[in-house]
Amino acid sequence: MNLKITAKVSFLFLLLAGILLWQATGLKAETKGIESGQRYGRLIVRNVIIIDGKGTPPRGPCDVIVEGNKILAIRETAKSEDAYGKEEHVIDGQGGYLLPGLINLHAHLHDSRGRWPLPFEYSYKLWLACGITTVRDVGSDSEKTIAERGKSQEGAIVAPRIYLYSVASGTTAEEIRRSVQMAKKQGADGVKLFTMDRDILRAAMDEAHKLGLRAAHHVGVEETDARDDAEFGMTSIEHWYGIPDAALHGSQNFPPSYNYFNEADRFRYAGRLWREADPEKLHGVLDKLVEKGVAWCPTLVIYEANRDLTRAMNQPWFKDFLHPSLEEYFKPDPANHGSYFWDWTTTDEVFWRENYRIWMAAVKEFADKGGIVGVGEDAGYIYMLYGFSLIRELELQQEAGFHPIDVVQNATGNNAKILGLEDRLGRVRAGFLADLIILSENPLENFKYLYPTGSLALKEGKIIQRGGVQWTIKDGIVYHAPSLIEDLKKMVAKAREAAKAKK
Ligand SMILES: [Zn+2]
Repeated sequence: MNLKITAKVSFLFLLLAGILLWQATGLKAETKGIESGQRYGRLIVRNVIIIDGKGTPPRGPCDVIVEGNKILAIRETAKSEDAYGKEEHVIDGQGGYLLPGLINLHAHLHDSRGRWPLPFEYSYKLWLACGITTVRDVGSDSEKTIAERGKSQEGAIVAPRIYLYSVASGTTAEEIRRSVQMAKKQGADGVKLFTMDRDILRAAMDEAHKLGLRAAHHVGVEETDARDDAEFGMTSIEHWYGIPDAALHGSQNFPPSYNYFNEADRFRYAGRLWREADPEKLHGVLDKLVEKGVAWCPTLVIYEANRDLTRAMNQPWFKDFLHPSLEEYFKPDPANHGSYFWDWTTTDEVFWRENYRIWMAAVKEFADKGGIVGVGEDAGYIYMLYGFSLIRELELQQEAGFHPIDVVQNATGNNAKILGLEDRLGRVRAGFLADLIILSENPLENFKYLYPTGSLALKEGKIIQRGGVQWTIKDGIVYHAPSLIEDLKKMVAKAREAAKAKK
């Protein structure tokens, strides 16, 4: 082989290698002018399949034009390669998927667990890394949440949008009215109500309506039940207890030793509540809720330890992401809310599995009748990690019988509606707020693709990790999700070091 030919072959080889390299990275190279944590005057997200928040099938490929914090336009993907040559800020979706940012309807802002401190930054970054761009805080330190909400609005912190439903309480009608007024004065977006007697709940709701506040009810096993929520115009039922409770004939069949304040009792016998509900009566309760427009945020995920404790205690993401403060808090201890797992039995789990079956069927029936189902996680308790738990909730709603498209709608469009923000949030639509997530895999095929840990796949004989959100856009601010994940890993490793040094 003479030199000339060798040179020619080498050139051809280099050219071929170049083309291969260009094919492998060329599309990625088109993402330009993007820095995590920045908002741009104009941002193009090109070549994505859109899964909207209104229950419609995916469509695309599309380009989404964002101006500041709003979606300006959505169009079919520009065919020509240099269509956006003059644009400064472009994300190339490479044929991946774009969804509205997920909304977590049942969150608590925690800066400590028990006596152990936990930085807000931890849950914020977990939420964003899981594609959650909005959280509704349904009870924590209101003053702190209001301050955090302001910082998030200004873009001063790396955090989702925050809405606050401040806890209102009182032992008389006058007291609860004052408490609701206080929430309004403080600037809360709504009120959260816990266990209370009927006359007090009526007064609370009357006051909330007068002041234009929405209300979320943790309807426990108490004097009031779901029928009262229907009658008094509750915005949403949190969890579920008051729904089957309204379909009993008299009281649940508690043993004489039962004590509601004993969490081990409370959660054990909650696992036997749905089976005692009269199915006929239950249909009527669901009809009433639908008729009166009461939404339902079932938080299926927060009870999952009850049906499978081993699973809950050994979730794979604990390895890299479980903060030591949370780890301590989760340990069985009567002093910590939701840490009641001593003497938890096979029988308890069997009852809870049946409980889930009836409960899930009721959630689906409620939706089929026209009820609005929302998605919330209630993490920070019972082995549930922020963010990851919301993705698990999506999986559980699919298990309840919802099509994945409808599950996405529950977590976006429906949640926005429950918040009263359906005119600006929860959809991929021109004029709406730019809260968007982008990932390379199709979450309708597998919700596990939304976990930062993704899902395992077999590629050319090798096991690889597939999925994870790539970009989370909140209020037009672009976050690189894998970078948030790296921050979290470092944060957790450092906190573990510090915890070890203390011991
Ligand atoms: Zn809660």
